[in-house]
Amino acid sequence: MSQYNFPDALGHFGPYGGTFASETLTHAINELRDAYAKYQNDPEFLREFRYELAHFVGRPSPVYHAARTSEEMGGAQIYLKREDLNHTGAHKINNVIGQAMLAKRMGKPRIIAETGAGQHGVATATICARYGLECVVYMGAEDVKRQSPNVYRMKLLGATVIPVESGSKTLKDALNEAMRDWVANVDNTFYIIGTVAGPHPYPMMVRDFQSVIGNECLTQMPEMLRDQKIAAEQPDAVVACVGGGSNAMGIFYPYIPHEKTRLIGVEAAGEGLDSGKHSASLQRGSSGVLHGNRTFILQDQNGQITETHSISAGLDYPGVGPEHAWLQEIKRAQYVGITDKEALDAFHYLCRTEGIIPALESSHAFAYAMKLAKEMRKDQSILVCLSGRGDKDIGTVADLSGGEYYDRPSMRGHTVKGGPAA
Ligand SMILES: *Cc1c(COP(=O)(O)O)cnc(C)c1O
Repeated sequence: MSQYNFPDALGHFGPYGGTFASETLTHAINELRDAYAKYQNDPEFLREFRYELAHFVGRPSPVYHAARTSEEMGGAQIYLKREDLNHTGAHKINNVIGQAMLAKRMGKPRIIAETGAGQHGVATATICARYGLECVVYMGAEDVKRQSPNVYRMKLLGATVIPVESGSKTLKDALNEAMRDWVANVDNTFYIIGTVAGPHPYPMMVRDFQSVIGNECLTQMPEMLRDQKIAAEQPDAVVACVGGGSNAMGIFYPYIPHEKTRLIGVEAAGEGLDSGKHSASLQRGSSGVLHGNRTFILQDQNGQITETHSISAGLDYPGVGPEHAWLQEIKRAQYVGITDKEALDAFHYLCRTEGIIPALESSHAFAYAMKLAKEMRKDQSILVCLSGRGDKDIGTVADLSGGEYYDRPSMRGHTVKGGPAA
């Protein structure tokens, strides 16, 4: 894999990626591509990026050895990359800083973004407050209702939140509306996309900004493994959840040349991969065009996007970044599913066993790592990207559990010993 050199100059990852956008956006996209090409290796740009990550985000984030979990699983050692400890509580801030820095240099004082659960909206509003940029966030009207704490956070940070009333009033409608705004205001507006999707150069640019996650792991893991007297320098497997795929690309990308390390992306299997109620674009989707690029999407025979489902809003997306479609095709990465129930069990297990309340998205990755650990030896290791913290999810968890999760006899003991059913 030492030859891995993607995307090409036009943003293609094999047959995936590229630029599928209306003519009205061609100028804006070209302008962004040229600006990123100019700054991506600029020492001053990179110095400022590193400074912001260190002093505003709190990087590097630690790697944590989940010793009790590893012991209970009885197999591989499990390590957690603690993106939950970042300012604003997830990995998303890494990327929005990079894009906002570009917006400043391109002389664009107005930022737009779309958000589903509100996490990307909060990160964007945060950096706009920091840099004194105007911030407009599009959000489906249904999501505005469901995610009121994040809507309030964005407003506290000075952003304007625009509820989108069209279609299903969720993320994909907010995306369409943000695109429309961009077309109308290209001169003064920068569109910050929150994951490795969209037209070229977004998938590559977001991956590059997020790859700070994996690059830190490359230097942190040898010491962590030495502590446990493990001979290997790097983990045997890296596991991350995949919604649009940005935290996964961020931790995978620097590991691509390390062929002994398996890369495993975990999609939301919802009520089961064969239930029709899931968000597993890579495992149950097919090639198509969505949001400006060719990738794997969940669609019917007529190419209409189908309804998706996941307990976790951040994974509930009918597409996936094009680079994941490519990594799956060339078999450098493998993609698996974790159901709502398995994720919820893993959420409770991590709370009680390690004292960490994870995001429901990240709980999918942790759930798979626990299954996998049981099949591996004690001198092997798994690195999990813990993409975010779970504060935002405690309402969802309480509702799903009738508010009485721990009072139900079936849950007692179950979450304390042994972990989720395999
Ligand atoms: C948004 C989000 C995700 C999903 O987005 P990716 O682009 O797939 O990383 C995962 N975890 C958390 C905590 C999130 O906020």
